[in-house]
Amino acid sequence: MYDFLVVGAGPSGSRFARSAAERGRDVLVLESGEIGRPLACSGHVSLDIWEFVPDAAREELRQNEIYGARFHLGGADSRSHPFYKETVVSNAIDRVGLDRTLAECAREAGATVRANHTVTSIRERPDRVEVEASGPDGVERFEARLVCGADGPKSKVRSQLGLPEPEELLHGVLGFDPDPDHGDFVDVHLTVPRFFAWRIPRGDAGVEYGLAVAPGEDAPGRFDALVEEYDADIERRCSGAIPIGPPDRTVGKRSFLVGDAAGQTKPFTGGGILYGMRAADVAAREIDPEHPATVNEYEHAWRAELGRDQAIGKAIRAGYSLPRPLQRAGMRAFSGEIGVHMDRPTSLFSTEQLRAMLSWK
Ligand SMILES: Cc1cc2nc3c(=O)[nH]c(=O)nc-3n(C[C@H](O)[C@H](O)[C@H](O)COP(=O)(O)OP(=O)(O)OC[C@H]3O[C@@H](n4cnc5c(N)ncnc54)[C@H](O)[C@@H]3O)c2cc1C
Repeated sequence: MYDFLVVGAGPSGSRFARSAAERGRDVLVLESGEIGRPLACSGHVSLDIWEFVPDAAREELRQNEIYGARFHLGGADSRSHPFYKETVVSNAIDRVGLDRTLAECAREAGATVRANHTVTSIRERPDRVEVEASGPDGVERFEARLVCGADGPKSKVRSQLGLPEPEELLHGVLGFDPDPDHGDFVDVHLTVPRFFAWRIPRGDAGVEYGLAVAPGEDAPGRFDALVEEYDADIERRCSGAIPIGPPDRTVGKRSFLVGDAAGQTKPFTGGGILYGMRAADVAAREIDPEHPATVNEYEHAWRAELGRDQAIGKAIRAGYSLPRPLQRAGMRAFSGEIGVHMDRPTSLFSTEQLRAMLSWK
């Protein structure tokens, strides 16, 4: 009997496994495919990422350093409104490499991580959880005190245990042009309904184009129009779901969700790598496998950790749908040097941001 059976070895599952194993818990992680594949993420993250990764892996994972974003109310040739810092704000990283690194950290901490095991059934019993997975040797059965659903936006754990869905599931599309670009800025286009399209220079790894919209808003067609405007030569494409707005409940009796499965993303960017890992640390800290009711402590604690930033992030996202004249006025008022931390919109009210605003020319 394991203490925790973790479904999914993405950033949230591997981080939870590492943190729990470091606390002496007995942890098994089952990942349906190859770790890190298929890729469906931009891997654009704040520098906080390096708190979760061994120093030795930094150089290999970092593809480019980003100083800010140029916002556009129109397409590729439209006027841009830069938001920036004088120092590096974020990095474009190798997301496949990140997942492998985090899974390795979990193994080194003592967790067992098995790829190519797809979890097909989860049953909560009064004294344990029973899990079935299909792997290279056929169907295998496992038992654990608790199950951690870290299985992404379309979580099987969530649906099998009857936990509620996130508020929204956006459809994201990405494509890569292999021409190297070491530029300092990402471009953000407020040209799609209720979200945005983007261009990210990834150093020698080329340029990434992408967008996310609600299902039914023709993500592939809009993506074709974006890359045509930029005259980009797309070699590889991929797509994935982005949950926005956490469900009302993310825990069961002997179960809990972390990461995308729990809607732990930034509502104004869809980014979830860091929020998921922060919540995973909260789960490892709060949940005692000998006392399953401690999942409720986790439910409170992760909302205390991320809730305010998610609420402000939701308000920022509402700005994407304002009438054009208001958006233009907002861009003129707020663009320039910024003091905001990209993962913590609460820092909009920080002295650093105030100082940056007052120092505008
Ligand atoms: C187009 C796009 C661009 C994005 N860009 C960014 C970005 O720039 N920055 C950022 O921070 N975030 C970004 N995100 C969001 C980010 O990818 C997610 O928030 C992050 O991957 C969440 O990590 P996770 O571990 O919770 O889930 P995931 O990374 O989805 O991992 C879940 C894992 O569970 C496995 N799994 C699923 N079902 C089962 C099963 N039944 N049995 C076993 N294993 C299973 C999956 O194979 C997967 O490995 C983007 C998302 C999309 C779609």
